[in-house]
Amino acid sequence: MALGALSHIAFTSSDLDRSAAFYDLVLGFIGYTRWPAVAGQAKWKKPGVGIVLIYTAKNDRAHDRAAPGLHHYAFEADSRAEVDALHALLAANDVTTLDAPADYAYTSGYYAMFFADPDGLKLELCFAPHAYTPPPT
Ligand SMILES: [Zn+2]
Repeated sequence: MALGALSHIAFTSSDLDRSAAFYDLVLGFIGYTRWPAVAGQAKWKKPGVGIVLIYTAKNDRAHDRAAPGLHHYAFEADSRAEVDALHALLAANDVTTLDAPADYAYTSGYYAMFFADPDGLKLELCFAPHAYTPPPT
């Protein structure tokens, strides 16, 4: 464990079974394992990395990433090839891709793709080899 490291993140879903199938696909690709969860939730773990939880939504309001709250969540990739491979996997499973893999100027070498979960939550897989490199002085 590391002080400040992300422990877990919980998303809400309007349809737990539909979302669980989606997250099985995505999280399975990036190495998470489905884990037993309490009723009304689904859980995936990747030891040493994190825990993703899905809670059943308590109302039917649509997610709005432009409103206060979560804008998007990014998972790390170890290579550009992994970003491309997830893009291909999602396309083969009719998952909405928001932005195909591309280079971004956020940090040197940043390469990412963006997609949406079944409730429209924006997700990202990024290869950011210099994300934690201190800025030049
Ligand atoms: Zn991002």
